[in-house]
Amino acid sequence: MTEKPNHRQDTLVVTAGREPEANFGYVNPPVFHGSTILHPTVKVLKTRDQPYTYGRRGSPTITALQKAITALEGGYNTVLTPSGLSAVSTALIAHLKAGDHLLMVDSAYGPSRDVCNKLLTRMGVEVDYYDPRIGAGISKLMKPNTAVVFAESPGSNSFEIQDIPAIAAAAHAGGAIVIADNTYGAGYYTKPLSQGADISVQAVTKYLCGHSDVLMGSITTNEKTWADTLFRHGALGQTVAPDDVYLVLRGIRTLGVRLERHQATGIRLARWLEARPEVALVIHPALESHPDHALWKRDFTGACGLFSFVFQPTVSDKAIAAMLDGMDLMGMGYSWGGFESLILPQDLKHNRTVTSGDFGGQLIRIHAGLEDADDLLADLEAGFARLNAAGA
Ligand SMILES: *Cc1c(COP(=O)(O)O)cnc(C)c1O
Repeated sequence: MTEKPNHRQDTLVVTAGREPEANFGYVNPPVFHGSTILHPTVKVLKTRDQPYTYGRRGSPTITALQKAITALEGGYNTVLTPSGLSAVSTALIAHLKAGDHLLMVDSAYGPSRDVCNKLLTRMGVEVDYYDPRIGAGISKLMKPNTAVVFAESPGSNSFEIQDIPAIAAAAHAGGAIVIADNTYGAGYYTKPLSQGADISVQAVTKYLCGHSDVLMGSITTNEKTWADTLFRHGALGQTVAPDDVYLVLRGIRTLGVRLERHQATGIRLARWLEARPEVALVIHPALESHPDHALWKRDFTGACGLFSFVFQPTVSDKAIAAMLDGMDLMGMGYSWGGFESLILPQDLKHNRTVTSGDFGGQLIRIHAGLEDADDLLADLEAGFARLNAAGA
């Protein structure tokens, strides 16, 4: 099914990457398993003149998902990687070399910091962190050897909104490219490539998959950064499994309706928490109380189901454990973006170097799933009763 340029986003998520006319009318693409692909003649073998030459470098199943994500992100093309973290590391390695300088956002996903501090530095890349709220001020941190500015908006667990257009303008003026981690927006609620970023990476693991059963990443580029990304992704031997690709293709078709529900329930839970006396702060960019709410309204068309809140400093660890250990629907586990609700205490103190990761009280991250919001509120209400019964 060819994407018509005038198709709106909710049509795109349903149609992009599907080709029923090439697949005997089947609505969904077939799943190609394979390493070896045969070539009919020596000439074709030598000229590589056929669409697919070796399983590691692509299949029609992989192409279908690449096309769908490219359409969603509004990019030039996409490569897939075995996890979201490998999308981050591959995109960075593909565009940095010894002697280059990287500007990394201080509110980045924790393991992305490890890529910088424990891998890139030993390969001779210089890394500096910047305040997510720096905006155009990033030009002061640019060096002659700055090759990449890495952004992630909103920030991981702390939800600072970055001014991507201002950061991209400064980065480009200094000769650097911008890579944005777009996992929160899922390619749906915000489009970093249309705001000046050169590359958008996602943990496909989260909302594109949407069912907590696949690990995958995507790197969507503009035309300028495509050839280097494709070649170096290939040189690193990155590939993904066909059945996993199929599950993500299935997940994407319902992305729009799922996100709408995650958003509505997330906002409801956040507003309810804002009214609780035990809660000092709710950090949700769609709430008027969020310091970057205006920027979020400018650059996002919605919010996903992920947000955080902070307990009053007087609430003890023991009381928080009594609440969390007894939750009925909200499970404690890493990742998010699946159909289920999650609740997780987070400590950002060791994940920040130029901004503070200390919020005064315990930070709790919530992923609002697709359960009935009233049942989730009842789960939280019972949790607060256990918290208060456990005393300070
Ligand atoms: C989860 C996540 C990743 C990593 O994804 P995995 O598939 O777990 O490796 C990267 N960036 C962000 C913002 C994430 O939330």
